Amino acid sequence: MNHVDTIQETIEAKEDELIELATDLVEAKSVTGNEVPAQNVIVDRLEHLDLEPDVWDPSADDLASHEGYFETSSYDDVGYEGRPNVAARIKGGDGPTLTVGGHIDVVDVTESEWNRSPWTVTQEEDTLYGRGVADMKGGLASVLIAIEALAENDIELNGDLLFQSTIEEEDGGVGGALSVLERGYVPDAAVVAEPFNLPNVGIASAGVMYFRVTVPGKSVHAAWGHEGVNAIGNAALVYQALEELDTERKAHIDYEPAYRANPDLEGNVTNLNLGMIEAGDWPSTLPAEAIMKGRIGWPPGESRAEVRAQIEDAVAAVAKEDSWLSEYPPEVEWFGWQAEPHEIDSTCEIATIAKGVGEAVTGRSGTYVGGNAGLDERFYTLYYGVDAVSVGPDGANLHGADEHTTVTSLKETALTTAVIATEYCGVSA
Ligand SMILES: [Zn+2]
Repeated sequence: MNHVDTIQETIEAKEDELIELATDLVEAKSVTGNEVPAQNVIVDRLEHLDLEPDVWDPSADDLASHEGYFETSSYDDVGYEGRPNVAARIKGGDGPTLTVGGHIDVVDVTESEWNRSPWTVTQEEDTLYGRGVADMKGGLASVLIAIEALAENDIELNGDLLFQSTIEEEDGGVGGALSVLERGYVPDAAVVAEPFNLPNVGIASAGVMYFRVTVPGKSVHAAWGHEGVNAIGNAALVYQALEELDTERKAHIDYEPAYRANPDLEGNVTNLNLGMIEAGDWPSTLPAEAIMKGRIGWPPGESRAEVRAQIEDAVAAVAKEDSWLSEYPPEVEWFGWQAEPHEIDSTCEIATIAKGVGEAVTGRSGTYVGGNAGLDERFYTLYYGVDAVSVGPDGANLHGADEHTTVTSLKETALTTAVIATEYCGVSA
């Protein structure tokens, strides 16, 4: 029997363990900002494997000078204390080093929208429901089972295997994946178990930025409204201008990897959204200020500076056309997510191996795809020149109600991860 068959047999035998581990991780609620309960589950598992996990809180001071750094919203809210990353090194020979793993944080839920409990795993035939079961605690459980399957079959890799479980990917990943790399865990290639529906292989991600537009008005009592200027009305002008910018951008943006796997996305691969507005404090007062907060996504090929200039120019142009706003122009500021997009060459070694192994394991054919949101994988590529791919289970309703994946695709993720490690690092004869 070759080692693929033996690993597969071991993973099949561990199906219940895999579901149990995914369940323990989901039950250890770890919304971005409070990742420690689920990191404790990871640490226990690594210790049980006789590995010595490295556990540390990131330091914003140490990271601040890095060009990929920005202050994340969760850092702004709660800081980094008590928010550990976890890494472990499985020593191999002198061959290439591979990182496997992913992020432990999940986004919060609107419980009333769920038909099942979000904070445990509910199994219905092959489907598993729960917050994070797809994005991406199921994938992390699969990776740990893959490491166990290699160990139990005494398969020794020719290179080191690095495992990592990181914080705040949903918030930009600065204190997570970037902190791991800055700590010295820099591999030759990385495989992140994001739910990219293997055998599809993720090779790209979109840029993401948050911004705030402060739109002025002139406050008076509503009974003398003609003497004031309503900031909500002014904000509506800015809203309209940014919506037009979004439409213009979509007409020329082409980011094929993002819609290759999902043709519905064609023409809408990156969006500009105004998601929050705050203005006024009394129905009979004209508000003096409206503050809108938004997010823009953009594809590989455009730079952060270009995209910022487009937004700032659109706001300045609409203000110029208005007699009052031309004297009191709105202000644009950038905060939170400030992530550049990335894309790797799909002919690189890790992408080729990942697709080949994924296709052999699943018996289906895959394609190279790109995320339409930001991903941790960018840190490897942009700042360390390391090729990183996303290879993980099926996932649906990510960030939404009744998020789910399947037992079959978690087992496929485990087997694919283990076999990629043997092919990329090589195996001692
Ligand atoms: Zn994710």
